[in-house]
Amino acid sequence: CNSVVPLYDIKVDVTFPLLYTASCLTKNLYQTPRLPKTGETIHGDKFLIGFGGKGANQCIQAARLGAKTTMICKVGKDFFGDNYIQNFKDNGVHTGKIKSENAIVIVAGANMLLSNEELQTALPAISHAKVMVCQLEINPQTSLQALQMAQESKVKTIFNPAPAIPDLDAGFYKASDVFCCNETEAELLTGSSVTNVEEACGAAQELLKRGCGAVIITLGPQGCVVLKEQKSTSDHVPTTAVTAVDTTGAGDSFIGALAFYMAHYPTMPLEEMARRANQVAVVSVQAFGTQTSYPFRASLPDELF
Ligand code: AMP
Repeated sequence: CNSVVPLYDIKVDVTFPLLYTASCLTKNLYQTPRLPKTGETIHGDKFLIGFGGKGANQCIQAARLGAKTTMICKVGKDFFGDNYIQNFKDNGVHTGKIKSENAIVIVAGANMLLSNEELQTALPAISHAKVMVCQLEINPQTSLQALQMAQESKVKTIFNPAPAIPDLDAGFYKASDVFCCNETEAELLTGSSVTNVEEACGAAQELLKRGCGAVIITLGPQGCVVLKEQKSTSDHVPTTAVTAVDTTGAGDSFIGALAFYMAHYPTMPLEEMARRANQVAVVSVQAFGTQTSYPFRASLPDELF
């Protein structure tokens, strides 16, 4: 949630020539015929500013499906921060736990300054929640503490180890009821190649052994694999084949939906939640942008609710 949009950190989406300058706060999206060469200026066809940050995306998707959501983060005390908070309000997200930081340039991002003490002030919100979702866009130790606080209050936890770090604290596995990552993250964490369903099943076994309650590895157009503590083999949960126009943020749409199902249908089998989360995420890949492509409950089939 930093208030500075960096001019580096350009991510290229291969399904369409799109460039994103990504920060936790905003994403500048340019549609261009090709990548510019170093030092070159080229014309783009389309420009879009969207809100981002993995946690924010996941929270907005869950809210659009009807979950009552609270965001715990830190933003800059400026125009960007205000806009960012307004976007949450527009999507029905509770913003009372968002702190603001009065600084001009915060290189690591205001979110990195969210301290354990500030987290404590959110304890009432955490302990009354049904599900807590954490990522690694805040200081990893703060994220771990949040998950542990949730578990102590018997709140279900989803941990999304993204952006991935190779030396992830072992405590994260034990603090995760559901450990949900994509192929790249699974590969980094296990040190093994994860490029197909079979390899994902192997990686899920390895991650489960580290102490989490269940593992989900998302596989883009192949859906995901689900492995639960009580089961010895993973289930492949396929998704619908579509023509994807922009897959950015699909993983966050999936996690937001998963959080919604865990909160609203706690007894539903995890495989069924994953099947439904696939169906929500598949909608998001058929439109441009990240949050802009996330579906609302009203536009989804009744069978998902
Ligand atoms: P990913 O983060 O790419 O693994 O994607 C997360 C989820 O989004 C997947 O588990 C799918 O449910 C959905 N998804 C992503 N890409 C596609 C695609 N090309 N076609 C259909 N669904 C997709």
